[in-house]
Amino acid sequence: MQEEQKQVLTPEIPERQERLVFFALPFKKLKLKYPWQNRVIFFDPTEIYRRLPINLYQRLQTHMAFKDMFPDRKDGFCSCGCGEPLSGRRRRWVSDDCSKFALAVWGIIDGQVGHIEYYVAKYNQRVCAICRARRDLKVDHIVPVKHGGGGCWLSNFQLLCHTCHVSKTNKDFGWKQKKAEKPIKVKT
Ligand SMILES: [Zn+2]
Ligand SMILES: [Zn+2]
Repeated sequence: MQEEQKQVLTPEIPERQERLVFFALPFKKLKLKYPWQNRVIFFDPTEIYRRLPINLYQRLQTHMAFKDMFPDRKDGFCSCGCGEPLSGRRRRWVSDDCSKFALAVWGIIDGQVGHIEYYVAKYNQRVCAICRARRDLKVDHIVPVKHGGGGCWLSNFQLLCHTCHVSKTNKDFGWKQKKAEKPIKVKT
């Protein structure tokens, strides 16, 4: 299984791109409703990408189960990776926050739009990454799915307004720009 998993990630994807598709986001102060949401946004997903057969050429990871990503641990510790020991009747998660955190991480990598939009909008503070507009924002894959940016972590998402999104998509796929660029007239 290990060998197979590696094959999905490595051969066609240069390391530079792989790093763009999943890395822990740089820290910044954010206003989030719950502390566990902070844990989601600044989570380092590298271990998950190394371990699971995530298909970077696919938007949705329908072949992947939640339990594959956060398996039961046999050592009496929480499955979310927080490092806390289970106590009482707890079998899998130390607290509900642990399971909410894990479900959100899974939802993002799995390609679930609700989770992705929520965290991308929060992290990027609802402005277009290019022109800073606040209207008609869309979540954009920085490395497009077609080029190996699918199944990505939050690090491969940005917010773009409609206009910037159209021009980036044209550039990504080499499509013809609708308007020819006019030469700038210089006043003398
Ligand atoms: Zn936990
Ligand atoms: Zn824009």
